Amino acid sequence: MQEKAEAQHILSMNSVEVLYDNVMLAIKGVSIQVRKGAMIALLGSNGAGKSTTLKAISGLLKVERGRVSRGEIRFAGTDITEMLAQHRVEMGICHVIEGRRVFEHLTPDENLIAAAPAGMSRSALEAEKDKIYEYFPPPGRASQFAGRLSVRGRAADACHRARLVTQPSLLMLDEPSLGLAPFLVQEIFGIIQQINEKEGMSVLLVEQNALAALEIVSEGYLIENGRVVMHGTAEALKANSDIQEFYLAAARASISTTSSITVGANAG
Ligand code: ATP
Repeated sequence: MQEKAEAQHILSMNSVEVLYDNVMLAIKGVSIQVRKGAMIALLGSNGAGKSTTLKAISGLLKVERGRVSRGEIRFAGTDITEMLAQHRVEMGICHVIEGRRVFEHLTPDENLIAAAPAGMSRSALEAEKDKIYEYFPPPGRASQFAGRLSVRGRAADACHRARLVTQPSLLMLDEPSLGLAPFLVQEIFGIIQQINEKEGMSVLLVEQNALAALEIVSEGYLIENGRVVMHGTAEALKANSDIQEFYLAAARASISTTSSITVGANAG
């Protein structure tokens, strides 16, 4: 029975606790399952433990003096709880950290080259770049410095580098909508959806924008104070009165505020 579940799950996180500096218990027994090819959202407010959960999976806790103090993380059937971050990348885990960081003084093309795994041949890299530009057509952009790109361009670049150069089987995106206007959020989320559908890649999406996230994922987990307090299909979560009250209402309010600011600016 357990073997069958493992065959279906690309990621299985079981009762994981994370400690920072040996004292700060940031997540407290989190269990999350991601089926192969599924797109799952991790929702929750500031400081809930969403980024910590992703860092536990990608192995990036160490650089912040954090560690998994309890529980187990399995990826493609292998226990990766103590594995080095670089080996997790090699296994197919890609984590795009919050803030869509790029090397600002390099062009998008050069950023892609910098993100390519060591030893990747030039022809393989060119093939990957062609694929990337199917999702994000680059008219006139390839020679512009990444630091001067629009927010949309930078978001697109982060997705490029994540998905396409490291060829993950699990793509983890931390707040890809952060700082984007609502129409750009829709565009970026549409692209993430396409990557999931066309490439068959599993996606774990951390978002405070529950309204946008629940439109594209099949399931979601709600994390509060370091614990999973709710798990269900996107439809069930959208219909839940607590989620509606705390997350969807806030997101709708922010969209209407943005629209009225735009109207006001035009009027001026
Ligand atoms: P946000 O969207 O604000 O980043 P989050 O849900 O991703 O929120 P985390 O960043 O995972 O939340 O933080 C969870 C808890 O762990 C918070 O109380 C936070 O202050 C704490 N924390 C996060 N990073 C560290 C760190 N490097 N050292 C100590 N405590 C940390």
